[in-house]
Amino acid sequence: MNQRYFIESPVVDRQATLDGAEAHHLLHVMRARPGTEVTLFDGSGREWTAQVATTSRSQVELEVLTLQAVDRELACPLVLGIALPKGDRQRWLIEKATELGVTRLVPLVTTRGVAQPTGSAQDRLRRWVVEACKQCGRNRLLEIDRPTKFGDYLEQTSAEALKILAHPDGQLHFPERDEPTRPVYLAVGPEGGWTPEEVALACSANWQNIALGPRILRIETAALLLAAWVQA
Ligand code: SAH
Repeated sequence: MNQRYFIESPVVDRQATLDGAEAHHLLHVMRARPGTEVTLFDGSGREWTAQVATTSRSQVELEVLTLQAVDRELACPLVLGIALPKGDRQRWLIEKATELGVTRLVPLVTTRGVAQPTGSAQDRLRRWVVEACKQCGRNRLLEIDRPTKFGDYLEQTSAEALKILAHPDGQLHFPERDEPTRPVYLAVGPEGGWTPEEVALACSANWQNIALGPRILRIETAALLLAAWVQA
């Protein structure tokens, strides 16, 4: 597979431009020259084969050769509501969620949770998404919402969706997935766990409490297990 680069600005007249971190990588890490072939994607589901035309210190102009719509998405929309962990574990989670095809990630504001990322911290999350998409061949970006109150997240779901709250005291078996295209919403709590009020709120909104085995998992492990189950 060619090296993949993310373009922020649209392809016009078969011309594309890379700048910022993407241009830096192509110019100074990969040492591209006119004629070097790469794959471009813009996060909308398409990818292009393109050839470097001209380079300057911080910009690369490319000539687009072919366009393909390449679908590497899950069969169903998958939304992960999660009280994000901190630091390196956050990065790991974003990377794996992107690889496993999560459609949208909603940082949850919960009673026992820590502060969720806003402003420039959110830009950092998006950068990690792009990095993971470059690596795994995904042509749609994992969307990251603004931090959302748990109660508001519960309300967002469509009636037909399968809604799963990961909770150590829940029932110990996964629901049937009779319809592979049916949207799935997940909720993973903070290190301190859900409060009884949060669990009751989810139950009253028709979420199913599911236990993921007899051991307590880290936030990111629980999320990964659930995303892998949806894919499998
Ligand atoms: N002390 C907390 C554990 C929190 S672990 C408690 O007892 O609830 C962080 C989150 O990961 C939990 O809120 C839950 O959503 C998920 N999780 C971790 N281990 C789990 C398990 N065995 N079953 C279901 N969910 C689990």
